[in-house]
Amino acid sequence: MTGRPQVAVIGAGPAGLATTIALRRAGLEAVAYERVEALRRHGNGLTLWPNGFAALDAFGAGYAVRGRAHPAAGMAMRAADGRTLYEVSEQAMKSVGGNGMAVHRTELLAALRGLLDPEAVRFGARCVGVRDAGEHAVAEFADGSEVRADLVVGADGIRSVVRESAGLGRRLRHCGVVVWRATIPFGLPETPGLLSMGGADAFGIWKLAEDRVYWFASAPFADARQGGADWLLRRFGDWHEPIPELLRATDPAQVVATEIFDCRPLRAWSRGRVALVGDAAHPSMPNMGQGTSQAFEDAAVLAARLAATPSVPEALRAYERQRRGRANAATSQARMLARIGGWPGPVAGRLREWMLSHAPQRAQLRQLRQMFEFRI
Ligand SMILES: Cc1cc2nc3c(=O)[nH]c(=O)nc-3n(C[C@H](O)[C@H](O)[C@H](O)COP(=O)(O)OP(=O)(O)OC[C@H]3O[C@@H](n4cnc5c(N)ncnc54)[C@H](O)[C@@H]3O)c2cc1C
Repeated sequence: MTGRPQVAVIGAGPAGLATTIALRRAGLEAVAYERVEALRRHGNGLTLWPNGFAALDAFGAGYAVRGRAHPAAGMAMRAADGRTLYEVSEQAMKSVGGNGMAVHRTELLAALRGLLDPEAVRFGARCVGVRDAGEHAVAEFADGSEVRADLVVGADGIRSVVRESAGLGRRLRHCGVVVWRATIPFGLPETPGLLSMGGADAFGIWKLAEDRVYWFASAPFADARQGGADWLLRRFGDWHEPIPELLRATDPAQVVATEIFDCRPLRAWSRGRVALVGDAAHPSMPNMGQGTSQAFEDAAVLAARLAATPSVPEALRAYERQRRGRANAATSQARMLARIGGWPGPVAGRLREWMLSHAPQRAQLRQLRQMFEFRI
């Protein structure tokens, strides 16, 4: 490479913005290309974990995101009738790295965008393909324009065009689950990040800043075909409070339903001068709430390896070597948690409750510590 390496980042979601910040702070000339016309107010709450913040801190973005996020007072799992199956106190969470935090996606993106010069993000740029040309790579856009760069990074999400175009794709798997989400104004006292389970269904509650609550509900796809707001209230109406109250307080127009997909680990995250980060690299079920934190780890490691190694393909190999294990572990743990949460019927449900309430806390804390410990 001669001069400052030029990087075209495709997508300005959490992974794309974080990667653009990290690369620019490492001295590379990175620009993000985003298909939507402008940052819009959409999406829902997201949980972020200490490993995500440690990665953000590695490129100086942690403080901006912390300023928008709300810390949970520990973490808990409950049965549908409200019995606590498992709880990690706020203090115990601090001992393994810190409490989870919840932030609205729009506010997260605004915080990251605020760390970039205006010219670092080009909106209305839909990438339709990439070419690796040996000494450089080319991103092709829907309006016929092209951008030539030393590296093209696909941060274009679970249905990544860059991944498919570079021949890195695997078939997405339908996970047989639908998740409904909403963010509503709701005065909740300080509370642990909460996941309640009953039958094959689950309901999660996270307090957001400014007296808002982010909730999500999941159920098997086969049961959920007609699932609108009335159906949700029938399905979860006899669960513990504040679940029915939250559902009644939600404007049905605000509820977003998403069918869940993931895929087996990709065989490679890069080819030549094209690389992947975030959901494009490791599509995962959302059960661990780790997708965004893992994307921030990708951004930090990719920038560090590119800054340390003059050869782009070599840096990409080092990036992938370092990141694959942790990202794949988060994906497989999410799938395992979904499988246990999806056990149908009362006998399986009692077994799950017994397992959760008898799991030794020391082992659970050890697992959390491993997940939260990010090293660059
Ligand atoms: C129901 C559900 C709940 C979740 N809950 C959590 C949670 O609590 N915590 C958490 O960490 N994660 C959660 N996730 C996962 C999280 O949303 C993703 O891991 C995260 O958004 C990944 O960020 P990304 O930037 O890789 O992809 P995305 O967020 O998908 O962003 C991709 C960006 O690329 C743009 N783009 C796409 N195609 C193109 C193109 N061709 N050209 C240009 N731009 C393009 C898109 O417009 C978008 O801006 C959840 C996911 C789901 C489905």
